[in-house]
Amino acid sequence: MRKSLEKAQRIVIKIGTSSLIYPNGTINLAGIDQLAFVLTDLANRGKEILLVSSGAIGVGMNKLGLKNRPTSIPEQQAVAAVGQAELMNIYNHRFLTYSQITAQILLTRDIVEYPESRKNVTNTLNQLLKKGIIPIINENDTVSVEEMDHQTKFGDNDQLSAIVAQITAADLLIMLSDIDGFYSANPSVDQQAILYHTVHEITPEICKQAGDKGSEFGTGGMISKLSAAQRILEADSAMVLANGEKPQVIFDILAGAEIGTLFCNANTFERL
Ligand code: ADP
Repeated sequence: MRKSLEKAQRIVIKIGTSSLIYPNGTINLAGIDQLAFVLTDLANRGKEILLVSSGAIGVGMNKLGLKNRPTSIPEQQAVAAVGQAELMNIYNHRFLTYSQITAQILLTRDIVEYPESRKNVTNTLNQLLKKGIIPIINENDTVSVEEMDHQTKFGDNDQLSAIVAQITAADLLIMLSDIDGFYSANPSVDQQAILYHTVHEITPEICKQAGDKGSEFGTGGMISKLSAAQRILEADSAMVLANGEKPQVIFDILAGAEIGTLFCNANTFERL
């Protein structure tokens, strides 16, 4: 049994596309509905909840009946524009079943890099949380680019979720993926791989154990989750990487069940 994370007051939840879209490309409504139920219940308990959700391109592909992910940037951004609006429709609908209000926040990297705009977005997020609203955050995929002197991409939503946790001084980031946690090797390649319950430090040895992404829809793979964890450790916060197949797992994680991998430095661990 792990120490209870029940005290965590401000919690960022990150959900990956693989938990929102079935392998056949259709929408996982059961998963999204459970997520809305769990997050609303936590908000009802008085917790401040922020959701970082991927899925715009996957949902857009489903809506437009596309079998393959488009390859050109303008096509991807057009599909993301369709998908982001549809994703918010689905979220709004599901959350409203539980009388929970949500808001959409679309970010680009420059916004969090410049002090005034970072302060502005932090103030907005704080204001929403104060009103009991759940912000649903995504990268502004439809316009973000990488140019030599103008980087507006976060890279992936693992980084985005860690940055959101950082700028809002969240107590906990729960990253829901298609895998049970961080293993000593990629379990889809090495059947002997062992699940880590707790990681206190991202060492070069730990990084060597991280492999590539798991699914067609996956983005960063494990290395990007470790780099998000590094950011969280530096901020003296905590992160749990767990399987998002059943979002109700969030209740058990907060209650202290040894689910997934808990990343937190030794001092934070003592404080929990
Ligand atoms: P998501 O879409 O949820 O963000 P990703 O596909 O980007 O997920 O990353 C999760 C995948 O990383 C897993 O499905 C697994 O195949 C792969 N992976 C590589 N190395 C590891 C490791 N050491 N432990 C766990 N998963 C790993």
